[in-house]
Amino acid sequence: MPTEQQSQHPPIFQNQVVVFSKNYLPLTRINIKRAIVLLVTGQAESMEFNSAQQWEVRSPSVVISVSEHIRLTKGNPKRRWKIPPVSRREIFRRDDHNCQYCGSAKHLTVDHVIPRSKGGTHSWSNVVTACESCNSAKGDRLLHEIGMALKTKPKAPVHPAIAFAEQFWKEQQPIDH
Ligand SMILES: [Zn+2]
Repeated sequence: MPTEQQSQHPPIFQNQVVVFSKNYLPLTRINIKRAIVLLVTGQAESMEFNSAQQWEVRSPSVVISVSEHIRLTKGNPKRRWKIPPVSRREIFRRDDHNCQYCGSAKHLTVDHVIPRSKGGTHSWSNVVTACESCNSAKGDRLLHEIGMALKTKPKAPVHPAIAFAEQFWKEQQPIDH
């Protein structure tokens, strides 16, 4: 495991630490100062993970080894999170403010994949962000009727921690493969 000799002064405090839940779900990134607080108070422990870096932080009375990855020792506080209701704002947010047909970020509207006139519902699996021109090109028809396709299959937004985890693991993919 590569360890880095660093001075106990500033640069080290620019490092970021990834926090994992008790059951190893990557939750979020925090700065090393917050991580130290969690470690010192026993709310988290350092994790040995792949080639995670370790930093030594010294105070007059104590030396703490902080890993790039730490894990909470207790379960997450149960913060209630509910799937947000279908709304223009939440649809745009889920779709990253991009038209789901052409990728444009301009003149966005909400499109019902299966038109409401054909029984399509106003639900997460049937609404997407669409630019005005894609929306009007599609009109009241079904995708296969006009040869249009969605970039991704629409689904309900996921919990922010899950979204972070998905992104985190994507970033961990080995480069030389
Ligand atoms: Zn478009």
